[in-house]
Amino acid sequence: MYFVSTRGKERVIGSEAVVKGLAADGGLFVPETFPTVTAGDINAMRSMSYAERAAEILHRFFDEYDKAELLAACKAAYGQFERGDAAPLVKIKDGLYVLELFHGPTCAFKDMALTVLPYLLRKGCDLCGIKEKVLVLVATSGDTGKAALEGFKNAEGIDVMVLYPEDGVSKMQKLQMCTQEGSNVNVLAVSGNFDDCQRTVKTIFSSKEYAEQLAKEGYRLSSANSINFGRLAPQIVYYFSTYIDLLTGKQIEYGDPVNFTVPTGNFGDILAAYYAKRMGLPLGKLICASNRNHILTDFFQSGVYDTHREFIKTMSPSMDILVSSNLERLLYEITDRNAERTAELMRSLSQSGKYEVTPGELARLQGEIWAGFAGEDETIEAMYDFFSENGYTADTHTGVALYVQGLYKDAFPRDKNESVIVSTANPYKFPQDVYYAVTGNDIKDSFKCIKRLNQETAMPVPKAISRLRDKPLRFKKSAPASKVFDEVLAFVKR
Ligand SMILES: *Cc1c(COP(=O)(O)O)cnc(C)c1O
Repeated sequence: MYFVSTRGKERVIGSEAVVKGLAADGGLFVPETFPTVTAGDINAMRSMSYAERAAEILHRFFDEYDKAELLAACKAAYGQFERGDAAPLVKIKDGLYVLELFHGPTCAFKDMALTVLPYLLRKGCDLCGIKEKVLVLVATSGDTGKAALEGFKNAEGIDVMVLYPEDGVSKMQKLQMCTQEGSNVNVLAVSGNFDDCQRTVKTIFSSKEYAEQLAKEGYRLSSANSINFGRLAPQIVYYFSTYIDLLTGKQIEYGDPVNFTVPTGNFGDILAAYYAKRMGLPLGKLICASNRNHILTDFFQSGVYDTHREFIKTMSPSMDILVSSNLERLLYEITDRNAERTAELMRSLSQSGKYEVTPGELARLQGEIWAGFAGEDETIEAMYDFFSENGYTADTHTGVALYVQGLYKDAFPRDKNESVIVSTANPYKFPQDVYYAVTGNDIKDSFKCIKRLNQETAMPVPKAISRLRDKPLRFKKSAPASKVFDEVLAFVKR
């Protein structure tokens, strides 16, 4: 299958889209056409495991990959998850479910894709005849970094370097990254917020000069951020898998629409739901939940995307983002794949920090996505209520989704679709905030807090978290954005 750039100047096959990460014209790769999944296909997937379903969906996009090999890679990836099922759906009450995507090696939903991406990239290099080493350069708001480090650690011919905003990630996220093992990994704190990190990475990607300097060292760049389609494709799978689980559990019949509420940052997770819908999955409303950095809520209401606003640090740091990269892919679709128009909007964004869509475009956006946001107190309240009413402990990101799901219900009381809350992180990744939400008390020390949270909720502590306590800190360096490329070069020259 071919992929085209949202800015119109490139067309490549899937493996090349994965290896490149970002198109040379600055656009993002999208499938030239959406493969369709029929009722019959869905029926056939009922008896399959998560890994088998994943191979089934992924092969439609990556048809030049050997299917048996792809299946083996999916089995190896999802075999690392703590539970037999990589994406268990928990029924809270009639009509309401939580989709738990945090049972992977790093306890956040990024594992759903980053356990498979190393295979897609490694094999992609072989399929494209690439002989150089690959440097995967990652900007992270907290969870992608760790998942990429873990996914790529000790990978053959691939190095990975993660940039995180110095003061923009949680204690536990930082600890997870800075204790990372592996001979091919590097972690650097960058002054500024996530947008600064992401901008630095995009600048490095689009610079010919940097590319030449890296080429001299025998390296080429790739990305593990959700700008890479190889990140998005595995995320499409769990929407299919959830729908199929609802079918096999006799909660719905084929064709019944299902709503998803998705805690959103870079717009990758919810975009994957939109893609699943375009492939034929009968989804209902897609609800985009934001925290206090609610640029997306404002955009879906007004049609104006305006980054001239304060960047606010919240207790859901993986959603503290003002420039949501994947929105470009949705704009491309709702303009009927008008690459010129998409490029124009993105030009406006980079030149003036702002763009505005037409009333017609806005109406189409609103037809696809409903958006809302939660403040900090509201998030805590939603987590407390959910815990006391249902005995279910949610992390802070999922807390934002819980609140926004409530807003949606109030706004559309007659919508009787089954509702799924996408749960993106294990609560133990944010122990202090979660403990505060369920008990009203503060405990400063992370590991003491984890112990108390466990006593309070009886939720098991994942080994990946409890083990961190005794791991030595390997990475302590920080740098301003202007020095990042020097650090990248020093790393590849090591
Ligand atoms: C990355 C992340 C999100 C946001 O997902 P996007 O695909 O960037 O919208 C939400 N919650 C958690 C815990 C995350 O790690």
